[in-house]
Amino acid sequence: MNAQADAHRRLWNERVETMSRDALRALQWQRLQRQMQYNYDRSPVHRGKFEAIGARPQDIRDFDDFARIPPMTKDEHRRVQQESLERHGNPYALMACARPEEIVRINATSGTSGTPTLYTLTAHDVAVVNEMHARKYWRAGIRPGHVMIQALSLSMFTGGLPLSQGIMHLGACVVPVGIEGGTQRVLDITRLSAPHAIVATPSFGQYLIEEAPRLTGKPASALGFRWFFCAGESGGGNPEVRRTLAEGFGGARIFDHTGGGHAFHGISCDASDDGCEGMHFVSEDHCLLELLDPASKVPLPLAHGAIGEMAFTFLDWRGGPFMRYALGDLLQVWTEPCACGMPGIRFAILGRTDDMLTVKGVNVYPQAIANEIFRLYPRVTGAFRILLDGPGPKVSPPLRIRIEHGGLDVPQLAALDEELGALFRRSLRIRAAFEWLAPGTLPREAGKTKYIERIAP
Ligand SMILES: [Zn+2]
Repeated sequence: MNAQADAHRRLWNERVETMSRDALRALQWQRLQRQMQYNYDRSPVHRGKFEAIGARPQDIRDFDDFARIPPMTKDEHRRVQQESLERHGNPYALMACARPEEIVRINATSGTSGTPTLYTLTAHDVAVVNEMHARKYWRAGIRPGHVMIQALSLSMFTGGLPLSQGIMHLGACVVPVGIEGGTQRVLDITRLSAPHAIVATPSFGQYLIEEAPRLTGKPASALGFRWFFCAGESGGGNPEVRRTLAEGFGGARIFDHTGGGHAFHGISCDASDDGCEGMHFVSEDHCLLELLDPASKVPLPLAHGAIGEMAFTFLDWRGGPFMRYALGDLLQVWTEPCACGMPGIRFAILGRTDDMLTVKGVNVYPQAIANEIFRLYPRVTGAFRILLDGPGPKVSPPLRIRIEHGGLDVPQLAALDEELGALFRRSLRIRAAFEWLAPGTLPREAGKTKYIERIAP
């Protein structure tokens, strides 16, 4: 272990990550003022946002003032990208604040909800992202000397190069094997490189637990992972899924984490099994988080348990900084202290605002439905689809859900149906009707699963 790197990281973590709320807000405000001026001076799109409210950066006196600036949506971002290409021959001319020769990386989103959007980074921004990755793994106990298998789709936005670089920045050793080469290859490279940790989707983890005996002649616990980092899908936020992974991998510590080529990063902690939900927001010194009403875009208070559309503002970004960027993602936040002792906000990503449904006046989100269903794992596999025969978001009850059981007989299934129905009424306050399917019936998707299926009425 590199003692100097170790000492440096400890100091940094202590200074920023354990700051009081007031000190952190002061740091955010100081950085926001600098960032506003930078954005205003260098980007016509950002300048236009200030002009829309008749203000210059120095007229913005506090966070409430700042919230008057119109948010930028993903659609608007796509339009600006296209206009930049047409007028200037590159996708970032109108948004980026750095000179073209300073841009060293462009990260593209997966594009599951339309044309991919681009994140533009200078060397400084790459260093910020690296540091955020290092913070997450450091919190989880990863140190130089540890070997991590990166078994995600390497070409994807979050799971590819930025993650490899972040692990190297921490000083740990990354093995970017990727899942494109298949499960056998991941297992072969695991045997050869003797890793301590794996980064993968939780469903790939469950698949490894099922398939390891057949493919390696040994249970998955023999692979020797001490950490399993869930990424790319939401299962890692579910206690039952974490328990299954921990047992299957012989007592490995299970973490859920998020964050790719930008400044919004989070990781769960060991207290997540004691009722402390969500991931710790570890990058608050680089990212100002707001919650907005999904329809009106009016800011909502960041109260314990609040749900809203996330909007973020980068606070120390030089390439293509985002300012009040509303991605269309729904977030729930928790502000009360976590049992692990780390201060700050925790959050869970609940899905896309477009996916919100209203059942008899009650708003429900597919991810919230997934969370309830996962509570009954392994009696369910976790795979399901919400069936919609209308345009939405209004649905008349019962909400129809096609769902896989975990291989039950008829009396067991009847009991499960009743139990899940009661769970939906109690936790989500909606009435649902389930169509049960045998395990493995629904198609598994390599990217983010689409929970809603539209059917003819
Ligand atoms: Zn915690």
